[in-house]
Amino acid sequence: MARIALFPGSFDPITIGHVNVITRSLDLFDKVIVGVGHNITKNYMFPLQDRIQWIKDSFDELPQVEVVSYTGLTINFCKEINARFILRGLRSSADFEFERSIAQMNNYLESSIETIFILAAPEFTPVSSTIVRDIIRNGGNAQAFVGSGVKLK
Ligand code: ADP
Repeated sequence: MARIALFPGSFDPITIGHVNVITRSLDLFDKVIVGVGHNITKNYMFPLQDRIQWIKDSFDELPQVEVVSYTGLTINFCKEINARFILRGLRSSADFEFERSIAQMNNYLESSIETIFILAAPEFTPVSSTIVRDIIRNGGNAQAFVGSGVKLK
């Protein structure tokens, strides 16, 4: 059975930290599906279509990486796409505490789906979509911190 992982997130926008986690995970999985969260109650900086296209363009040379949007419970979407694994990145103890409760709750809800964590590479630990958005909002140049396919004005 193919080892399929879902990497869920907002990717608002995709950063070099996300790209690093996805690229490193390709040794573990046959396919990584990047699931772009689409939640009408959340205020995103970038439209869903841009967030999706930028991820596709960042991985255009890696056919094992697919990009889709989804709504609803992550574990339900995993079942829909036959993903037995959820991939997440960890930068800090704050990430760990947050991720731990989500992973444990997902495991209560669906014990057949395992969450796999990849530690951030040290050079990407400070990179976050939140800080990238702050840089952009304040007129700075964030191009060095985002995926190669991201086209900021
Ligand atoms: P969310 O909106 O759910 O926080 P994000 O798009 O911010 O989603 O991030 C998705 C995943 O990528 C999370 O597991 C997050 O911890 C991880 N991540 C974000 N930035 C980095 C980074 N620089 N290095 C490693 N993992 C990261």
